[in-house]
Amino acid sequence: MGEAEQPTSLEPNMIGPVAITGPSLQQYVKAQQPEATVVAAGKMSFDGHAVSCGTRPTVLNPKLDSWGGAFPGYLIINPDRVNGLSTPVKFYIYHHECGHQFIGASETGADCFSIRRGVRWGWLDDKGMDNICKFISQLKGDSVHPPGPKRCELMRQCYAEALGSKRQASNQR
Ligand SMILES: [Zn+2]
Repeated sequence: MGEAEQPTSLEPNMIGPVAITGPSLQQYVKAQQPEATVVAAGKMSFDGHAVSCGTRPTVLNPKLDSWGGAFPGYLIINPDRVNGLSTPVKFYIYHHECGHQFIGASETGADCFSIRRGVRWGWLDDKGMDNICKFISQLKGDSVHPPGPKRCELMRQCYAEALGSKRQASNQR
């Protein structure tokens, strides 16, 4: 109660070394019953737009103390907390969690992974980037997450780099 007014990070207590190992999907879902439900890989969407993280399913857990989380092999989204965010911010959160599957525990790495995917796959534009920065800049950060404004700055760098390489690739065609 009231915790939503004072967000500190995207995944309190879930990131860092914990992200390297974790409960299996079955263990996690069992522990989070009856609230948690599993959305199969390929079936996840936000606002009618499909998202994908390869073969990884998504657990919808309204009790998660954050917007999203990740353990090896699956992603976790709190449907109540992402509800009301703009679509690009929802996509950013989902792909940040997806990024942990490939990048590991690095928060800035997962952020950049998400932004790069957004540019490459076409769901992220300047307005979406502004929305993400507005969302993230309210977060204070913690031992593993830099303060929100810093994350915004780093993500804007990733955005510019990804746009640059996209342009280069289309010029070479
Ligand atoms: Zn993270």
